[in-house]
Amino acid sequence: MQIRISDAPLTPPEEIARRKQNPGFGKVFSDRMFIARWTEERGWHDLAIEPYAPIPLDPAANVLHYAQEVFEGLKAYGWQDGRVALFRPEMNGRRLNQSAERMCMPTVPEPMWRDAIETLVDLERAWVPTDGEGSLYIRPTMIGTEPSLGVKVSNSFLFYVIVGPAGPYFPTGFKPVRIWVTREFVRAAVGGIGFAKTAGNYAASLLPGRIAAEKGCSQVLYLDARERRYIEELGGMNVFCRFGGRLVTPPLTGSILPGVTRDSILRLAPDLGYEVEERPIAIDEIVDGARSGELGEMFAVGTAAVVTAIGELVVEDEPVRIGDGGVGETATQLYRKLTDIQYGRGPDPYGWTRIVEPRG
Ligand SMILES: *Cc1c(COP(=O)(O)O)cnc(C)c1O
Repeated sequence: MQIRISDAPLTPPEEIARRKQNPGFGKVFSDRMFIARWTEERGWHDLAIEPYAPIPLDPAANVLHYAQEVFEGLKAYGWQDGRVALFRPEMNGRRLNQSAERMCMPTVPEPMWRDAIETLVDLERAWVPTDGEGSLYIRPTMIGTEPSLGVKVSNSFLFYVIVGPAGPYFPTGFKPVRIWVTREFVRAAVGGIGFAKTAGNYAASLLPGRIAAEKGCSQVLYLDARERRYIEELGGMNVFCRFGGRLVTPPLTGSILPGVTRDSILRLAPDLGYEVEERPIAIDEIVDGARSGELGEMFAVGTAAVVTAIGELVVEDEPVRIGDGGVGETATQLYRKLTDIQYGRGPDPYGWTRIVEPRG
């Protein structure tokens, strides 16, 4: 499938350089986007790279009422030698399709996924931060566009990819966060859509997120919906606990998003001498472990922040300090190991990086 590349007004280099400085997250976008259409009759068609612009949608479009939507989040990293690399992008492609299947949406064939991402990132490489800390955030999205208020599967879809520079998650340095553990709200239940990267999960997380902020916490740690006993994830990041030399993370039971970072840490940690384990972790085990000292560290992992140390939990309004409340050794070590691979500063033993080749 051929991608048609249309002309776009391009931002002058000095202006790009200015916008790449302190871009924050998800606010600055490049000049162009990838877009493709799907219908039952034609499948995927009209693949194009066009100027970044609003998308005309019928006010009755499925996505606006019933949230038939899936998305992805990955990054392109600017290496010191000038090359641009993606990190395990095929995993994001597979996950997009798993999300799409759950949401009754068409899947994106691997070659189309690869071509869309690589062609767009190549064209927009001027937007990739080169300060060795920022990255180009890539947001592939698929939406149901059929204008119909009946609750049913859309018969037409749009798939688009937008990109924009993102600064380092912690511009002032690696800092531990405070997390609210809620027993009142749940993010997802087994049998629901928790494993899919789909809009509804995030809509459900907004109110608990706001309450967490009122408690001085930056995010929410959710427990399982059935027993409200086992930790699940943060609603945007997966979690790990370190008990002695063992790294433990909750298993993928269907209500947790299968993170690429989570998977990468499970693969890298044994090389650093840790034992890894996927098993249910009761919140009581965490609170007891924090008090006895058996729980050495806890951290959250995801593409945006890579590894974030959790310094304190707030459990039923009681603060529970983790370790010494600072950034632990393991979190630091894993952060380095992963970012060294992503930025091409260290060995890539599993062949995870993929260079975006210039297309002449
Ligand atoms: C995207 C996401 C993660 C992290 O996944 P990565 O692939 O590591 O970025 C974790 N939880 C939720 C709910 C997510 O949406």
